[in-house]
Amino acid sequence: MQNNFFDTRIEILKGVGAARALLLNTELQIFTYADLIQYYPFRYEDRTKFHTIADLYEGMEVAQIKGRLHFMEKMGEGHKARLTAQFSDGTGTMELTWFQGVSFLEKKLRPSSEYVIYGKPAFFQGRPQMQHPEMELLNPANEKGGYFQPVYGLTEKLKKRYIDSKVIAMMQRNLLDISYSQIRETLPENIRQKFRLIEKKDAVYNIHLPMSEAWLHQARRRLKFEELFYNQLRLIKQKLNRRTDYKGQVFKSTTLVTEFYKNHLPFDLTNAQKRVIKEIFEDMKSGKQMNRLLQGDVGSGKTIVAFICMLLAISNGCQACIIAPTEILADQHYQGLKDFADSLGIKIDKLTGSVRKKARVGIHEGLLDGSLSILVGTHAILEDIVQFQNLGFVVIDEQHRFGVAQRAKLWEKNSVIHPHILVMTATPIPRTLAMTLYGDLDVSIIDELPKGRKPIKTVHRYDSHRLNVFGFMRDEIKKGRQVYVVYPLIEESEKLDYKYLADGYESIVRAFPEYHISIVHGKMKPADKDFEMQRFIKKETQIMVATTVIEVGVNVPNASIMVIESAERFGLSQLHQLRGRVGRGAEQSYCILMTDVKLSKDTRIRLETMVRTTDGFEIADVDLQLRGPGDLSGTQQSGVIDLLIADLAKDGEILRVARECATAILEEDHDLDLPQNAMVKEQIEQQKANASNWARIS
Ligand code: ADP
Ligand code: MG
Repeated sequence: MQNNFFDTRIEILKGVGAARALLLNTELQIFTYADLIQYYPFRYEDRTKFHTIADLYEGMEVAQIKGRLHFMEKMGEGHKARLTAQFSDGTGTMELTWFQGVSFLEKKLRPSSEYVIYGKPAFFQGRPQMQHPEMELLNPANEKGGYFQPVYGLTEKLKKRYIDSKVIAMMQRNLLDISYSQIRETLPENIRQKFRLIEKKDAVYNIHLPMSEAWLHQARRRLKFEELFYNQLRLIKQKLNRRTDYKGQVFKSTTLVTEFYKNHLPFDLTNAQKRVIKEIFEDMKSGKQMNRLLQGDVGSGKTIVAFICMLLAISNGCQACIIAPTEILADQHYQGLKDFADSLGIKIDKLTGSVRKKARVGIHEGLLDGSLSILVGTHAILEDIVQFQNLGFVVIDEQHRFGVAQRAKLWEKNSVIHPHILVMTATPIPRTLAMTLYGDLDVSIIDELPKGRKPIKTVHRYDSHRLNVFGFMRDEIKKGRQVYVVYPLIEESEKLDYKYLADGYESIVRAFPEYHISIVHGKMKPADKDFEMQRFIKKETQIMVATTVIEVGVNVPNASIMVIESAERFGLSQLHQLRGRVGRGAEQSYCILMTDVKLSKDTRIRLETMVRTTDGFEIADVDLQLRGPGDLSGTQQSGVIDLLIADLAKDGEILRVARECATAILEEDHDLDLPQNAMVKEQIEQQKANASNWARIS
């Protein structure tokens, strides 16, 4: 019954009708009552307070004023037409101006009537004015103020057809009039009591038509909690199900691990490395299939951890593979792991898009007959033709570029018994995001860099100081160091990119005639790129001029200076990744961020953050605050984040509480069979049954 009610199509709702319904369908994907009622405002305008003209001040965001409209005047014709009016409230007079809808407004506005106006005040020669204020005749409803006006996301087309936030709010009011009593509670009483959450129907009502600021606050809190609670419940349940549903290979023998530790370990592992290896080993011995995320900042030494875990698998007659998002990164892993593998007599090979057919066939055979133990590669590994004799362990590097579907594909590479999976990421993910993106994975964190690393010193310099920067580079090169100079890559304009890079290269060649300089960019053939990189690694060149292709892939401990040109064009996590290319040796390293003097507020925050800290988690948090979760790489493809109201950048605390609550419930009652969890179970089942998310409400 109730479901059917919220399935009703919006055409028949008072205030909608066929024409508007069609617009809502195509522009906002709103088809049913459920769709409409879940179309939440994204902010509210505070119409509770009135200002007077006398107390307006420069820089004020918005003001609502009650007053009288005086003579209007239209100036100019056609698209140059403009309408002005005088408006006074007893404390002063201001000018109102409109550039759009002039003839319409000229007819509609009534001089000498009283209005409530709303807009952003501006000042001209000390006198207050307002452009395009919202105008509403004074009436009993708006006279006292006292309400929060919802603002809904709208498209240009809707605005052109006069569907604005007020119209949507009117539709919501009409809908709530007939549906309020039908809105079913979706959180059990005991949870609502414990966290002091208001009832669902009151929350939905107040999200659209807040009765007061306090009600609005409670409405948002309640709906955010509910959304995050069910999100976490689903993820944690998936995790638990997998634990009970899927067996994992049991790795008991540690022969190769022991031999590696005894004879080939190139350095002492950090305590953090030891700890995560222990966590992973426990999983791989547990008999349950592992799904674990390994987070660790650039340079924290994830590769060797992955290798040691591979050794455990191989000691037990299994194969291992590692998959990276780019050819360069796969290459680096291959180079890094090959020496280790060779020292133990383990066969390792590389499979990427550029591997020739003949070599491929050899790899396929080696995998099938089990003689090839470790495969390093890119997406090429996912192809169906790549089959293993007994794949036991999969490492996915830089998970954020892979989707959930690809993870599943790797999983199926051993259909008898799924391989253990370790997902590695060097992009520290803020905790809140990790909980929703990877809530179904166990997490291990390497929070310690290898000993002897000196923290990288980071400075910000304006372009006008380039000569000083060159001087500093020269001093360091004299001491035997090497330097990266990185230019941004702007995808829309490859030509322009290249010009930046070429000009930069020219100026560096001119400034450093006594040194050899490498250049590497994305348009070069892999072989040429390789050649240049090798020259740099062998110290034949002192300066490497490059685009972001060096973001991943290059590991040159002697390179201790990273100069990032046009640093304002890079995102925070990218800057952090680039900086991670230096600081890999024993020497003091430096990162120099070069920019123009004109910088936006956000850019300044990004640069200040880079200068202040090298902590990847702190940087990730600032990044999340600045960009919002939707922009963080990977979140869109993953499809995991589909939140109507919660904001991962701001609602970390609610998320934490909701997750704790979900965990506690599932720990006590895994299948949600207890009577007090009946509502939760029903809700989850509805969500599952309903691909669209309207089950959240009905
Ligand atoms: P990332 O976590 O960024 O993948 P890598 O695995 O590439 O880091 O390691 C970065 C560098 O640090 C490599 O040259 C590696 O050999 C070295 N390294 C890793 N662990 C240690 C350690 N415990 N002590 C000293 N150097 C280490
Ligand atoms: Mg790495």
